Amino acid sequence: MDEARARGAELVGCEPGEIIFTGSATEANHLAMLSAAGSPHGRRRVIISAIEHPSVLAASERLSALGFEVDKAPVTSDGAVDLDAFERLLGSDVALVSIMAAHNETGVVQPVGEIGRMCRKHGALFHTDAVQAMGKLPSCWSFARPDYLAMAAHKFYGPKGIAACVVRPGAPLIPQLTGGGQEGGRRSSTEAVPLVAGFGVACRLAKENLAQFSGLAKLRDDFESGVLLPLGAQIFGAAAERLPNTSFFALPGISGGTLADKLDKHGIAVGTGSACHEGGQALPRVLEWMRATLPEGSSPVRVSLGRQTSAEQVEALARAVWLVHKLIS
Ligand code: PLP
Repeated sequence: MDEARARGAELVGCEPGEIIFTGSATEANHLAMLSAAGSPHGRRRVIISAIEHPSVLAASERLSALGFEVDKAPVTSDGAVDLDAFERLLGSDVALVSIMAAHNETGVVQPVGEIGRMCRKHGALFHTDAVQAMGKLPSCWSFARPDYLAMAAHKFYGPKGIAACVVRPGAPLIPQLTGGGQEGGRRSSTEAVPLVAGFGVACRLAKENLAQFSGLAKLRDDFESGVLLPLGAQIFGAAAERLPNTSFFALPGISGGTLADKLDKHGIAVGTGSACHEGGQALPRVLEWMRATLPEGSSPVRVSLGRQTSAEQVEALARAVWLVHKLIS
């Protein structure tokens, strides 16, 4: 447990004692956000971005049920939080701001450095869901200085079922699970030691391989400029800073489901989001907020490269996408 906590602290850039192990990032987001209910000075407003993960939305609804007013900060057409609109929402009545470090579909990196500065200026607590960014980008713990940060091992090759809520000293903390007093009384329940050990190894490897991960941006950019753009694809968030491994796009005349099925036959797995986004019937929430329009007959697809994805594999993907496009159009 101590070893894993130390490796986690090295990846995050925090003190080992600031890490609270949880069973999931959903739990970590809830622990952080519901703790803001203990915010002093009677602040009763919460700001989240409009594109947060459903677990953050759900925690904000819990705060709303406790009497907090919840405002949603919009994003620009690039998919990043609109900082001017965000600043207009801030005020001395804001208890908590929750803005993710990077989006789970577009991969757009959010301006958490500026957001952290604005939160401190207005005395608001700041939580960031860093689930997608951790292990893919340098940690924002020291430059954005959030009061709370959520991360999950399974997003950087660790086991499922182990995550962490990182809490800065002095930030309010209201334990959600009470009983045996584990994790210093901050999260009771018998420690999942094998999972915690896996978390520690994943953190060590993520830190060691951060540079390798950033190299994926070149492969992703080559795929986009060599294949997607010539085929007339719309690439969402392409003008913003994105996670190095993510490409979220829609190809004219091809639904995401069809493309995913065809690529599967080539041994390539891509993501299409939930079924209700199939066939261009409805836009994912993030694309609605970006005011994106889909090319005729398309729906979005997400390609995620992995730490060990090679140039040859991306070339095979490119060939397969060309082939599918030729067959369908
Ligand atoms: N936050 C983000 C940005 C995510 O992508 C996810 C999972 O995909 C979660 C939170 C929830 O993580 P978990 O499934 O570990 O609860």
